[in-house]
Amino acid sequence: MDFVLPDSFKKRTADALGEREAQALFEALAGQPVASVRANVMKRQVLKDGLEPVLWCEAGGYLAERPMFTMDPLFHAGCYYVQEASSMFLEQVFRQHVDSDSPLVLDLCAAPGGKSTHIASLLGGRGFLVSNEVIRSRVKILEENMAKWGCTNVAVTNGEPEDFSGLRGLFDVVVVDAPCSGEGMFRKDQQAIEEWSEDNVRLCAERQRRILADVYPVLKEGGLLIYSTCTYNEHENEENVRWIADSLGAEVLSIELESDWNVVDSGFGCHFYPHKAKGEGFFIAALRKSCEELPVRVKPVKRKECKEAVFVKDWLLSASDYDFQMQGDVVVAVPKDFADFVDKLRAEVSVLTAGVPLAQIKGKDMVPLPQLAFSCALNRDAFKCVSVDWEQAIAFLRRENMFFQEEPKGWLLLMFEGAPLGFVKNLGNRANNNYPAEWRIRMSEDKSRYVKILED
Ligand code: SAM
Repeated sequence: MDFVLPDSFKKRTADALGEREAQALFEALAGQPVASVRANVMKRQVLKDGLEPVLWCEAGGYLAERPMFTMDPLFHAGCYYVQEASSMFLEQVFRQHVDSDSPLVLDLCAAPGGKSTHIASLLGGRGFLVSNEVIRSRVKILEENMAKWGCTNVAVTNGEPEDFSGLRGLFDVVVVDAPCSGEGMFRKDQQAIEEWSEDNVRLCAERQRRILADVYPVLKEGGLLIYSTCTYNEHENEENVRWIADSLGAEVLSIELESDWNVVDSGFGCHFYPHKAKGEGFFIAALRKSCEELPVRVKPVKRKECKEAVFVKDWLLSASDYDFQMQGDVVVAVPKDFADFVDKLRAEVSVLTAGVPLAQIKGKDMVPLPQLAFSCALNRDAFKCVSVDWEQAIAFLRRENMFFQEEPKGWLLLMFEGAPLGFVKNLGNRANNNYPAEWRIRMSEDKSRYVKILED
């Protein structure tokens, strides 16, 4: 298909950037997108030596070409995340402007989870992240990606911005990576070009204001709002940032830049243009809330003791840091410091997961859950670990029948190159595959497409 940019997009971009810059941008948009990944530092993963680093993100790197990630078991194990490089700039805003040691963070528009997995890494086990997605069909992939990333101080929710109104004044950081007209995706996504129109830019800008106004009360006074889009136009970017400052009450913060990043500071936020910085189009702004906001009180709750916890406590490292709770027939471990907050969260919005789902009670059995296998808090010593080769790993992820006649009966934790993939129940003559049906690989195996991304 021919690459044709809408005329009015070209005209308005030339008006904003000048003819020469705009031409350079259009040429870059007609080129190939770059592939980049971010390693999961919480799982002590490091990108392979020799990958070109993403300058603004410590764990980020560019790949010379885009491999078939599906064929890499470590991709499924949450050892790295495939993320567009410009978006990784969130790290700079976080490092420069988050001042609490244990911040409460809301990522309001989170699916599929690029920024949420990144925030979870930046939190480094401190604080708590609420990773929210409003669209029900998109929250499943968010839940999967967050489970695989393995951080325990995370809740995944499915709510509208206004559903959080009962949590007024509680959050130290709110991230609004807003739905937008997607001009920054033109190089990657032909559909973004086809769907673009002047009207859509206007509608997006209005929707962004509604979202911002609805969620703003949850940010505490002095808290940090991070607003980002993947579009270039000033209606969705600069004008909205000015509107937040003037109408909602905030101070626009400056973000320090290195000159070799080639990021453009407009005075309201930072622009990534593909002809300048290596990545797709992106805009990000940081604002500090300046108006008063009285926080709601989170009452300490006397919770029922979870008797089932004794059977599964040892499955976690530092079990004493967690509050064990029953959610239906599942034993869940919630970080103790945020257990009251999680109760409050559950009262306000639909919570899909909070903390680590450890085990499902089935009759007399405690079935270890896939989320536990991926969790950074998993105590591997509590299980018989079995290393599998690439073929076995892919067979497991395809949810095929497995055989471990040489291994003891009972639960086995399968590991590929040191990373847990999940559990099987070894019955002797066969092993039941416990990998979730909805996460399974549907493609047939093709080792020729497998490329190693991480160091051994
Ligand atoms: N932050 C994500 C990441 O890094 O992977 C990408 C988010 S995407 C740019 C914007 C998200 O906003 C989408 O998941 C979309 O479903 C969600 N969204 C759409 N309409 C919304 C609304 N009215 N309120 C809140 N979120 C909305």
